[in-house]
Amino acid sequence: MSKYWSHIVSTLKPYVAGEQPRIANLVKLNTNENPYGPSPKALDAIRNAADDRLRLYPDPVALELRESIARLHGVDAGEVFVGNGSDEVLAHTFMGLLNHDAPLLYPDITYSFYPVYSLLYGIESRQVPLDENFGIRLSDYGQPCGAIILPNPNAPTGIGLPLSEIEALVAAHPDQPVVIDEAYVDFGGDSAIPLTRKYPNLLVVQTFSKSRSLAGMRVGFAIGQRPLIDALERVKDSFNSYPLDKLAQVAATAAIEDVEWFETCRNRIIDSRTRVVSGLEQRGFRVLPSLANFVFAMHPDFAGTDLAAKLRDRAVLVRHFAKPRIDPYLRISIGTEAECDRLIESLDDIL
Ligand code: PMP
Repeated sequence: MSKYWSHIVSTLKPYVAGEQPRIANLVKLNTNENPYGPSPKALDAIRNAADDRLRLYPDPVALELRESIARLHGVDAGEVFVGNGSDEVLAHTFMGLLNHDAPLLYPDITYSFYPVYSLLYGIESRQVPLDENFGIRLSDYGQPCGAIILPNPNAPTGIGLPLSEIEALVAAHPDQPVVIDEAYVDFGGDSAIPLTRKYPNLLVVQTFSKSRSLAGMRVGFAIGQRPLIDALERVKDSFNSYPLDKLAQVAATAAIEDVEWFETCRNRIIDSRTRVVSGLEQRGFRVLPSLANFVFAMHPDFAGTDLAAKLRDRAVLVRHFAKPRIDPYLRISIGTEAECDRLIESLDDIL
């Protein structure tokens, strides 16, 4: 093996996704999927497209989908980039946009793929500690840097920043790309997409995996001004001209159009989140304020790993991160009403 490859193999610690086990009657609250399933119109669109035409390559620029996303967000299709999940959009962003001469800043507790991509693409990065309440303190981002990436709401804490703070951050770094990863924004956060009109350095990344319930189709997108989007297109074309398969394109387009399904499901999730938070608090948990489709919670009398194991014994799967500072916490995705009840009943059995 060449020196380069052995370096990659020995130093990369890839993000390990939450497990997808087959356990009977499993309540799966470990990977922030949407419990309600995709829009029936998206499923129809997949069925209608699953025929002989699949021998043809898909539209390499996914124009119809980009036009739908653009219409929804009041931008031009040329200001929309789509990829195979927001993970791929982020990978292209790291490859194409980030300045390799000055450090990339991101929170020290955040989406685990950022350090992985930094290492993979040789980007110097600096992790900025969260404050004592697990919040992102933007005054800490005033230091010289090549770029900034933040999820809003942050993961796995679920804590969101107001748009005014995001705007102040973007305005304070006119010469650096600022990337806002809005994977969870539809569950109560404020999207920074409208700010892309005003700030050429802002790129906003979103996904169809959470609020649109299409994690299995792998669709994500970014919105920003044309020079940013053109840079992403060039990276994509050098990598894989056909990132989005045809079924993913039609499913995502139909999902965007089905506003009613989207609103109903996300409102149910937001309502269930309120119930889960109060159920946990009544049982002695500390729960961080969440604007996402999950909550981050710890119980003072139990180690996170033990509680996760005890829940697993009861076929309730939640996510535990064996990392300093967040080790006592569990990240619990919001499931259906019945699944949330099972979570609380299982906790009553354990506590
Ligand atoms: N960003 C954040 C903050 C996430 O938590 C996730 C999902 N794990 C992603 C991006 C990637 O989502 P996807 O690739 O499914 O679009």
